[in-house]
Amino acid sequence: MKINFSLEGKVAVVTGSTSGLGQGMAVGLAEAGADIIGIGSSSEQPETKQKVEDLGRKFYTISADLSEQDKIASVVKDSISKAGKVDILVNNAGIIRRNQAENFTDQDWDDVIDVNLNAVFRLTREFGKHMIENGSGKIINIASMLSFQGGLKVPAYSATKHAVAGLTKSFANEWSSKGVNVNAIAPGYMETANTAPIREDKDRKAYITSRIPQGEWGTPEDLKGPVVFLASEASSYVSGHILCVDGGWMGS
Ligand code: NAP
Repeated sequence: MKINFSLEGKVAVVTGSTSGLGQGMAVGLAEAGADIIGIGSSSEQPETKQKVEDLGRKFYTISADLSEQDKIASVVKDSISKAGKVDILVNNAGIIRRNQAENFTDQDWDDVIDVNLNAVFRLTREFGKHMIENGSGKIINIASMLSFQGGLKVPAYSATKHAVAGLTKSFANEWSSKGVNVNAIAPGYMETANTAPIREDKDRKAYITSRIPQGEWGTPEDLKGPVVFLASEASSYVSGHILCVDGGWMGS
């Protein structure tokens, strides 16, 4: 059997593709041959669109605030009608709020739970129904090192990322026999807007860097290979797995 990493003819939805890791993964999936539906709260995603179209792939923009749970069903419907089908879903959009646990507000808690967990659950359920009908699909959730560790000043973020790991395994158990693989990628410390505040704190950045066996932070490009693997036939017997892409952090 020839190993098949090609995504020619596939359509991938990537949430949070406007910037950061989502943009890197959207471009990686397009490099492997997929057309991309990019979902973000921004009205346009000019940079990602350009990068995907430069590769000769189609890019459809869907502007939606994923904190609004009552909009999720129409986001799914629009996505399927724009491209005709969806083969791959990357649940990447995520937010982080930082505050000491004793001062962490209800508003911050609710906002993070909505985008990082409630939207992931609903998008997975709705796109999953479509994939089950088609007899195949690949769902890749973006977890975190904080799917395994508690972190500092990020109780809601850590709770949602632990939950994303649980959701991944839960959906995988039910759907892998129906042709739908559900897995997750847990990125380590990556250079994006999400981590800008901790990178600005020189002591904290130096401490974290010293604990990464590879000795440097990751970039959005580092997720291209892992996401293409989990989106392609090459990973057809991989189910409910959480793949750490962390320069060795979890093993250290
Ligand atoms: P980022 O640069 O801040 O990107 C976040 C993306 O999510 C943006 O494209 C944003 O697009 C979208 N987004 C945010 N709120 C949204 C909303 N309400 N509705 C729709 N889209 C929304 O952060 P990132 O580092 O790339 O993070 C991407 C994912 O990786 C997140 O799930 C994060 O938790 C996870 N992660 C990051 C790291 C890291 O070190 N950076 C490590 C582990 C896990 P718009 O601006 O268009 O809304």
